[in-house]
Amino acid sequence: MNRTTIVILGGGVGGIVTANHLAKLIPRENEIVLIEKNKDHSFAASYLWLMVNKRTPRQVTSPLRELVDKRVNILFEEVKQVDVESKTISTGKSKINFNFLVIALGAELDKTHFDKQQYGVHNFFTYEGARKLNDELQNFGGGNVSIVISSLPYKCPGAPYEGAMLIADFLKCQKFQNKVTVNLYTPEPQPLPVAGPELGNSVKEIMISKGIGFHPQNRLTTVNYSERKIEFESGSSVKYDLLVLIPSHKAPEVVIKSGLVDESGWIHVNKDTLETKHNNVFAIGDVTSITIPGRWQPDKPMKLPKAGVFAHSQAFTISEIIASRILNKESKEIFCGDGFCMLEVGEDLAGFAYGDFYGSPHPDVKLKRLGKIWHWGKVLFEKWWLAPIGFRKNVLQSLLKVGSSVLKIPVKL
Ligand SMILES: Cc1cc2nc3c(=O)[nH]c(=O)nc-3n(C[C@H](O)[C@H](O)[C@H](O)COP(=O)(O)OP(=O)(O)OC[C@H]3O[C@@H](n4cnc5c(N)ncnc54)[C@H](O)[C@@H]3O)c2cc1C
Repeated sequence: MNRTTIVILGGGVGGIVTANHLAKLIPRENEIVLIEKNKDHSFAASYLWLMVNKRTPRQVTSPLRELVDKRVNILFEEVKQVDVESKTISTGKSKINFNFLVIALGAELDKTHFDKQQYGVHNFFTYEGARKLNDELQNFGGGNVSIVISSLPYKCPGAPYEGAMLIADFLKCQKFQNKVTVNLYTPEPQPLPVAGPELGNSVKEIMISKGIGFHPQNRLTTVNYSERKIEFESGSSVKYDLLVLIPSHKAPEVVIKSGLVDESGWIHVNKDTLETKHNNVFAIGDVTSITIPGRWQPDKPMKLPKAGVFAHSQAFTISEIIASRILNKESKEIFCGDGFCMLEVGEDLAGFAYGDFYGSPHPDVKLKRLGKIWHWGKVLFEKWWLAPIGFRKNVLQSLLKVGSSVLKIPVKL
């Protein structure tokens, strides 16, 4: 058998799962190279807890090397060029040829409003942002908190709503009840439009019960730092004391330059196999754009949400496909569009939304009643995800034991 090189770009959710799963599936003579610019991996779902003091910065990060199978060669370098014609990847330091390529570079965030903390502008979509927002929330003197979704699409459709609820709860606990207002502004018609009206209404009701104002169909145009004012396309404006912005997202520059993006600005892939228009070149996770059945506005087709849960299961699919091609076996593996989300609502409670996002005529997503069990499920996943790869099984078993005794639910190990 010829030696094959699989290059994975990006050591986030999709890249880590692909590297580890491929390491189990393909014979050792084949090389797996993972290229990632950061030595430490942070778990994005935990930024919400970091923001409201429920985690320390150390608790939400791990060295990437500890999370990835030893046989995977990790290059801690920045990808500068992707050339699918010559099958070469260039970083500042190396040039690597590939037989199979997996692009898992995620989404790039617009940094325009980063480092504007002196004007009360924050975000919790980055590790650094969540850390600084935590400082701000602890020292906040009260006033109007505005959470604003800058533009669509953004990763994790539930995150801004979870963030708003956690911030409202945190400030309530700081005994600010009458000195704080929390409002969320979004260009969307409802929370999580992809998940349908039932789920959107449930989230809206929970927010209202927490005293959070919900303002749909508001498109942000300007942030006036000196006056601490935000302006919307409709002409209306709002004064803020603390502005929490969900930054605009786009495909990383290196991906745009590669010529792989379509008119959506993201990589178009086959929705079942995640293969791009180039043979043996795959893209997974946030960097892709996958149209799914249904429309959330007459001119707006639904897109598969950008979420870790999809990056994770797509990574399994493509690993199976790549392994079967290397081993000259037939593969029937496809990504089926199933996904779920534990939606944090504060007070250690979460909802659980799950469903078939490829369902026709529109995604079929259901919400389970709020419960502590979903919150603890998310905590469990966090601990498992950030545990060194060799200890993951033990961590999972101990946590399940603790979880089952705390929740008084019998769990078979
Ligand atoms: C606050 C928050 C909460 C969230 N909560 C959830 C949740 O509860 N459930 C859920 O399913 N999803 C959640 N998500 C979304 C989830 O984190 C992302 O959808 C997921 O990480 C996408 O995986 P990915 O592999 O596509 O990209 P990423 O995980 O973002 O990985 C991309 C990697 O590529 C690297 N990279 C980028 N450019 C280069 C380059 N040029 N060279 C080298 N390396 C590069 C980056 O450093 C990064 O490590 C949340 C996100 C946020 C921000």
